Amino acid sequence: MDNQIDWASLPFGYIKTDYNVRCEFRDGKWGQIEVSSDENISLHMAATSLHYGQEIFEGLKAFRGVDGKIRIFRLEENARRMRESAEGLLMEPIPEDLFCEMCKKVVKLNERFVPPYGSGASLYIRPLEIGTTARVGVKPASEFLFLVLVTPVGPYFKTGFGCTNICIMRDYDRVAPKGTGRWKVGGNYAASLQAGEHAHELGYSAVLYLDPKEKKYLDECGPANFFAIKDGKYITPASESILPSITNKSLMQLAKDMGVEVEQRHITVDELADCTEAAACGTAAVASPIGEIHDLDNNKKYIIAKDGKPGPVTTALYNRLNAIRLGEEPDVHGWNTIVE
Ligand SMILES: *Cc1c(COP(=O)(O)O)cnc(C)c1O
Repeated sequence: MDNQIDWASLPFGYIKTDYNVRCEFRDGKWGQIEVSSDENISLHMAATSLHYGQEIFEGLKAFRGVDGKIRIFRLEENARRMRESAEGLLMEPIPEDLFCEMCKKVVKLNERFVPPYGSGASLYIRPLEIGTTARVGVKPASEFLFLVLVTPVGPYFKTGFGCTNICIMRDYDRVAPKGTGRWKVGGNYAASLQAGEHAHELGYSAVLYLDPKEKKYLDECGPANFFAIKDGKYITPASESILPSITNKSLMQLAKDMGVEVEQRHITVDELADCTEAAACGTAAVASPIGEIHDLDNNKKYIIAKDGKPGPVTTALYNRLNAIRLGEEPDVHGWNTIVE
């Protein structure tokens, strides 16, 4: 047993667990679920995933709740999105019930790695699918591997929930206007590495991308969605190049529940001047509050958090979503799946 894990100081990294689960699509059907303790996969050197980027993934978390039960947050939504990503890249969609069954199974098998309640840590679940057929011509695979691995990850905010600064850089696009941005594709990440590293070198936590067609509207914030509070409303970009974040969707619902109006629409860069709060959102951090946004091309600074602290709406939404995941507040929308 790994009684040694210091849950509170775990990074967002990979730690070996006991098992992963796999399923292969061959001869037109999905096979049996296999449980493996091998961290490696054997892959043909001409597999389509290696040459032509047929790879999609998901990211979700399991938590140990206040009652000791393990909850997976928004499992079905992730299953649905993975199916959509598969369809987008002409890969075989994983049946949603198979996705859910395998996620529950891998969490159960690695139960000892689910961090204790109160640690702020969680068990990150990473499903991925790759094309495995050997092909040299550009053509989709007809065989696929679906695999789910888990790894415990520490709390995102180790020194407390706080603001970071981000920047706008027009020299980079993460995705194309009618490209693969709306699907969770590994290649989108490869395409964003240069911009991300550049921003980090300049001291920013992420790039706030503009829409790749007109460079007029806000798009995504690094590998996360963006939302802001303007005139008391929750505003978040509508764009076909954005990955529909399940965290964002959940926060929009919670905002409505709290009586905050929600607008999903085009947001121009100038509007940042009137935003009183802003944050990046995604599974990793829920909401990562933004202090300042620097438009590097125009040498302009938007000071969002005047006192440098996360604002009241962002903080309330963050606390609410966390409380639901941990079973501290009633799960009125049915977002948690309890792993028995
Ligand atoms: C995964 C991801 C997000 C966040 O989605 P969640 O479902 O909230 O975790 C946002 N943007 C991109 C590009 C992503 O890949």
